[in-house]
Amino acid sequence: MDFDYGPGAEAFRAELRTWIEANLDPQLRGEGHGSALDGPHREQLRDWNRRLADAGYAALSWPREYGGREAGVVEQLVYAEEMSRADAPGPLNPIGLSNIAPAIMEYGTEEQKQRFLRPMLRGDEIWSQGFSEPQAGSDLAGLRTAAVDDGDAWIVNGQKIWNTFGHHAQWCELLVRTDPDAGKHRGISCLLVDLTLPGIEARPLRTIAGTEEFAELFFTDARVPKSALLGPLHDGWRVALTTLSHERAGVASLHLRVRKKVAQLIADARATPRGDGSAFDAPVARHEIMRAYAMAENMKALADRAISQAAHGRPPGPEGSLIKLIWSDVENRLARAAGEALGAAANGGRWGHDRVYVRSTSIAGGTSQVNRNIIAGRVLGLPRSS
Ligand SMILES: Cc1cc2nc3c(=O)[nH]c(=O)nc-3n(C[C@H](O)[C@H](O)[C@H](O)COP(=O)(O)OP(=O)(O)OC[C@H]3O[C@@H](n4cnc5c(N)ncnc54)[C@H](O)[C@@H]3O)c2cc1C
Repeated sequence: MDFDYGPGAEAFRAELRTWIEANLDPQLRGEGHGSALDGPHREQLRDWNRRLADAGYAALSWPREYGGREAGVVEQLVYAEEMSRADAPGPLNPIGLSNIAPAIMEYGTEEQKQRFLRPMLRGDEIWSQGFSEPQAGSDLAGLRTAAVDDGDAWIVNGQKIWNTFGHHAQWCELLVRTDPDAGKHRGISCLLVDLTLPGIEARPLRTIAGTEEFAELFFTDARVPKSALLGPLHDGWRVALTTLSHERAGVASLHLRVRKKVAQLIADARATPRGDGSAFDAPVARHEIMRAYAMAENMKALADRAISQAAHGRPPGPEGSLIKLIWSDVENRLARAAGEALGAAANGGRWGHDRVYVRSTSIAGGTSQVNRNIIAGRVLGLPRSS
């Protein structure tokens, strides 16, 4: 690690820690996972989101004019560390704030920025990302949902799937095909769509973990106003890449969550009697846990390197792709290690949830196989298979 927190960042840490202690409702500690919008604390979470936004703590890197702090990367790191330390939930719009807002800031009209960014920041309007379709996931440019020009509106027909928060969201960053005759990547446009319009239906999907955190979206002759276009017509692929690059960049602080889980599993294993000692003394369980520990520490080292690059103004390296890949592996390994160490107790509660939920980590935000292809080509320079 060759960056320094420095006195400015430490002063910010002290200020933030005091603010969190004064403002966070203790009931909300550990809340804010994907299904929080269905949960019993949703109104408190909305209130917490507004407090974060009004204090300038909802999106640190954003420009001040939209409610951010224009914070540098080290301050953002301090923020992630302190929120994790306090077990404080983040804002309700993680996809909106991290992925969609940067695209609106880069490609939006002034009217779009003024209309959308503030309510997104305060969690008053929930956003979703409508990219994947039943036949277009890894091969996103194969998307078929069509928008046809009808004077003052687009007529949208098609289906999206795996749309996180889709059944809670008021707005969607939607990729559509506006020119069916252009090349695969060329005829796509991006629309900011009001999901309450007639002709749009969101059907929640229940995951293997029993929660409903994403939905299918069906569009049947939905009339979407022309003003919904984000960025250039037929060049929505560029807008999508901006969104996706921010999705990848957001992984740098994942190690905080993972390292906490490793510490929790070590504590749980120590508290589980096995033979004359604890489950943590059992060789297989201990081996599995320590492998997960080493991988989590590796994630931190990669994240530090990514932060160091950014702090020195260097372009992002391959760390984001590597961290995403290791994150998925370590989450799955930890879930297995919990089963090994805790036995039947790992079938319920938090570990029981994790043991099924973690399967999604190798799919969400780009699959592990596709990620390995990217690393093989762009990092290792290996030739493509024919
Ligand atoms: C929890 C979660 C949240 C999600 N949220 C959203 C969201 O908010 N918005 C959204 O639009 N989408 C979302 N997705 C969808 C996600 O982006 C896609 O599932 C993902 O891109 C994979 O696409 P697919 O499901 O169509 O699988 P496919 O692309 O059909 O892949 C099937 C299998 O083939 C493999 N494969 C595909 N291509 C290659 C290749 N070239 N080389 C090697 N192997 C390959 C894959 O790795 C996978 O194992 C979410 C998914 C999950 C699990």
